[in-house]
Amino acid sequence: MKQIIVADPTGFCFGVRRAIETLEKILSDEGPIYSLGMPIHNPQEVERLAKKGLVVVDSPDMIPPLSRIFIRAHGISSELFSTLQKHSIHIVDGTCPFVKKAQERIKLLAREGYKICIIGNGNHPEIKALQGIVEGKATVIEKKEDVTEIGKTAKLGVISQTTQDSKVFAAIVSELALRTQEMRVYNTICNATRERQDATRKLAQFVDGIIVVGGRNSANTGKLYDIARFSGIDVVWIEHAEELDRRWLSGKARVGITAGASTPDWLISQLKNTLSSRR
Ligand code: SF4
Repeated sequence: MKQIIVADPTGFCFGVRRAIETLEKILSDEGPIYSLGMPIHNPQEVERLAKKGLVVVDSPDMIPPLSRIFIRAHGISSELFSTLQKHSIHIVDGTCPFVKKAQERIKLLAREGYKICIIGNGNHPEIKALQGIVEGKATVIEKKEDVTEIGKTAKLGVISQTTQDSKVFAAIVSELALRTQEMRVYNTICNATRERQDATRKLAQFVDGIIVVGGRNSANTGKLYDIARFSGIDVVWIEHAEELDRRWLSGKARVGITAGASTPDWLISQLKNTLSSRR
């Protein structure tokens, strides 16, 4: 009989769970709603919500006037918020409170005249929103080698992507400190990502193989896959239980499950049930 161990914590983080619960309530109480971009990087969950009336679009022009609009956990810029207000009868704001906090911090830095550095990935929607809030007047640094882009400045304000690796953040901050007389640093890292990564590392010590479950478009799920792989055990990445080839289970007495912050509980339960029925 196989033993199944699920990483703890795993799956939805606080911000994603809150956003999806908000969306569910609106869909059930008020009906269809538009989302600019996928509300969550998980195709199965988006498909489930689409059946209840969620419509995902790529541009505000695709939203009919007087529609309901959902803002995902990564947030949006104030400019985009104003554009959406013109299209909407009701904006439902699913921005994670931790992301909102980072948005308040960056506004404060701009108001107080700091040159701003955001430590993170410039292509991520959360960072695009932060840049939009200060009208593009922030430099995004992803790695230590790029700090020269900041130049020398008298007052430097630093903020982080919420999912930033804390070691990378600390290394970049110490380099930046050499380039300015005054530096104000807001550590806006949220622990949800790190906790899921640590739980996956720990799980790898107790099992013969790990199943990573989550969307292939989910960067944080991909990171869990890399962590499990680098730990040297057998790893497979699936989006849902039906994708699992049962031959992978052969010879493994203990099987671990880990899931990205955008993987809903029902996909994790489905996988657990499938594994239990194959014992
Ligand atoms: S990872 Fe953290 S900041 Fe991002 S949505 Fe989840 S709880 Fe919020």
